[in-house]
Amino acid sequence: MAVPSPENASPAMAQWFTLKAQEPDALLFFRMGDFYELFFGDAQAASMALDIALTKRGTHNGEPIPMCGVPMGAAQTYLSRLIKRGFRVAVAEQLEQPRKGQKGPLKREIIRLVTPGTLTEDELLEAGRANFLLALAQAGRRRNCVGAAWVDVSTGHVETLSLPRTELAELLARLDPSEILLDPALETKDLPLRPGAATIRAPARLTPERARTRMAAAYKVAQLDALGEFSDEEATACALLLDYVRRSQAGQLPRLQRPLPTGQAGVMGLDPATRQSLEILQARDGTETHTLLSTVAHTVTAAGTRLLARWLSTPSTDPALITARQDAWSWLGSEARSQAGLAQDLRQLLRGVPDCARALGRISTGRALPRDLAAVRDTLHLADLLTEKLAAYRNSAMPGAIRQLGAALYGRADSLLERLTAALAPTLPARLEDGGVIAAGFDPELDRLRSLRDDSRRVIARLQAELVGKYSINTLRIRHHSQLGYVIEVPASHGARLKERPELHYRQGTASLARFSSEALSQLDRTIAEASEQAATLERHLFETLAGHVLDTPALDEITAALAELDVYLACEKLAASGRWCRPKVTEDTRFTLRACRHPVVEAALERQGGERFMPNSCALPPAHYVMLLTGPNMAGKSTFLRQTALAVILAQAGFPVPAEEAEIGVVDRLFSRVGAADDLARGRSTFMVEMTETAAILNQAGPRSLVVVDEIGRGTSTLDGLSIAWATLEALHSQLGARTIFATHFHELGALLGRLPHLTAATMSVREWEGEVVFQHEVKPGLAGRSWGLHVARLAGLPAAVLKRARRLLAHFEQERGGAGAVGVQPLPLFTAGLQAEPHLPDAPSPQAAPEDPRHEILEDFLADLDPDCLTPRQAHEALYRLQERL
Ligand code: ADP
Repeated sequence: MAVPSPENASPAMAQWFTLKAQEPDALLFFRMGDFYELFFGDAQAASMALDIALTKRGTHNGEPIPMCGVPMGAAQTYLSRLIKRGFRVAVAEQLEQPRKGQKGPLKREIIRLVTPGTLTEDELLEAGRANFLLALAQAGRRRNCVGAAWVDVSTGHVETLSLPRTELAELLARLDPSEILLDPALETKDLPLRPGAATIRAPARLTPERARTRMAAAYKVAQLDALGEFSDEEATACALLLDYVRRSQAGQLPRLQRPLPTGQAGVMGLDPATRQSLEILQARDGTETHTLLSTVAHTVTAAGTRLLARWLSTPSTDPALITARQDAWSWLGSEARSQAGLAQDLRQLLRGVPDCARALGRISTGRALPRDLAAVRDTLHLADLLTEKLAAYRNSAMPGAIRQLGAALYGRADSLLERLTAALAPTLPARLEDGGVIAAGFDPELDRLRSLRDDSRRVIARLQAELVGKYSINTLRIRHHSQLGYVIEVPASHGARLKERPELHYRQGTASLARFSSEALSQLDRTIAEASEQAATLERHLFETLAGHVLDTPALDEITAALAELDVYLACEKLAASGRWCRPKVTEDTRFTLRACRHPVVEAALERQGGERFMPNSCALPPAHYVMLLTGPNMAGKSTFLRQTALAVILAQAGFPVPAEEAEIGVVDRLFSRVGAADDLARGRSTFMVEMTETAAILNQAGPRSLVVVDEIGRGTSTLDGLSIAWATLEALHSQLGARTIFATHFHELGALLGRLPHLTAATMSVREWEGEVVFQHEVKPGLAGRSWGLHVARLAGLPAAVLKRARRLLAHFEQERGGAGAVGVQPLPLFTAGLQAEPHLPDAPSPQAAPEDPRHEILEDFLADLDPDCLTPRQAHEALYRLQERL
């Protein structure tokens, strides 16, 4: 945003330059009367972004000053549009009212920096979605380590984490921050920051020591250790974050919860490609309607939805934690309690719980609205009612999680509740300035001032009636005028007569009316003005005192957290209560069975359409057969099957029920899903490059506790290249990494590996041909696909008949050339069989096209003809290899 030199600026513009220099990266909303005005480059940027007129006001060094303005009343809408586009906005307010004869500009200060990651207003936030500001830092020489700290300012939730640079992409995908703050010391060269994200450098570096001191000061502890253990980079990131948040709130740090040093341990690894492919919180097209979250979020509060989203995006690897969550919702839905309608009752009460976490966020930034205090009151009230309901079951065997909820909720802030109930008026105005927030009877002095003010208003009404009679002017009115105060207004025709009255002072006249004042009126005016002003001041004071009490009640954080948690358990209970979602058994080993499992999002879509029913499918990847080769034509349901398997794992490990009849899952430490079109054109990489990068990520990271679901590895290149890559990848997953895998492919040739890789099984999507049409049954059954059906699908898709006919003839021709349907002329090389799984790294992809003129080819053929791979022990295979090496 271009800013010219401030020299020779007019006094008002000089003030603008000073403020602009304080926040050079933000658009400056400069309050002038009823408008926020923007100048120079800010005006150009904002007028483009908001599509509003760009005009000029005055000149600077002989050049007209570009300007645009937004009216106060509509400022929130414009702000939200700018923030959505990634701008920051510094709001400079007038801190005094214009006075008569005042010289020089009014006093103005930046009272707030509005940035995508530091919002607190409901209008600017999405209710069910956390809004994160993320700070990244580096400390000392630990270059491979990044410290991360993130906050949702709207709720005060803070977490920190120290992680290897290579895992940053995963964290970014998990948090999806609205804004990223970078430590100036951080090397960003190969950090996976999205170009479009609002990213800003912190103005100054911090040493780890200073960072620790600042963090300790912000949380009012003598030593940081009191809050937990933080690495240098975590502390630096957190301190930078706190500074930035403070700056955004014009020097006042909002109430933030104590930072949780989270650690990645205990959370299932989900890389960005996996999250994208599974559409957990967000669909590929960026929408949020057809996602796992939208399908399972039967929560009834916004805070509950945010927590549910957090659990879904960080599935646990700790069976104890998972079981504790399962116990909670199973208990809520158990037979005895469901007969008593407990879950429904609790849900009904929760529906009334307001978004207290966000209300607290606003209260702590000094932007409390009357309804925010009411939100605290209603939350406390409902928390009591909820715990009363739970208390009825105190003597039953309550699971730990529910018991803790009850303890967090019950009677924790009784005195605050009493005070708020007594203090707040039954109906509240939208803003504090509108008056009438504090209930009558709460404060005697306020009551006195209010009645003085209101009585005087009645006196005025009486006086008007008196004057109408006295001067015989029916149209005489007493009105309040912004500059003159209370005046007597009469039509201009009566003006001359009244001017002669000694008790009246002529003040002003227009073509149609004349205005007078009188001593009695002025006296009343003063009384009313004073009383209203005093009442308003006192009301603000009482309001702020109440807000102070709220902020001094730390139990509120626990209460809001407990309510959100209860909401999530009830959402789980609802899924389970449908009878079609089961409680999975999550174990420490590597078993894996899903019986009659479904894809919740596709199923819901089919139900909405009211046509075909979803066909459930089972999936077993037991230790004896942990790799599944899945073949079948397009549109037969392969990707749906892959995704539903992965989603079941996410749900299970988030502690949720699973859409299956039965599920047993040995905890998955990392989940890799590569399903669906890899659309990475935006980053300018070819699809094949993307595919290979993502395959490499799997091969470098997956292990025996991982789950890998991949679709069509090797599709982005020539058939033989692709086949070789798919072949070698499948071998590596099976023999070196030992990961539970479903490998969907079009390369039927991979079936040749079946007898050779001992833990590999084959499954295919059943397809029927009926009266010349293909019928997809969406059913997974053992075996390999008999044929491709590609031409059938092409016909379904509407390829012209002539092209289809030609394709059919070509197919017959090619098949004949290759010596039989299906084969591509690849002889699987027995060298790459399970007997050699001790190979330390990936063998080179077998070249399916060993050149016939190469003499070594013959040696190889002779040699191999003498071997029976199925009868070789690993040792014999090893020796055979050596012999072969000698011959070649
Ligand atoms: P593929 O990956 O084999 O091309 P998809 O998984 O994309 O096939 O499925 C194609 C379509 O078939 C989906 O859009 C879905 O509507 C339907 N489908 C997939 N699986 C099932 C199933 N189990 N039951 C019913 N319909 C299904």
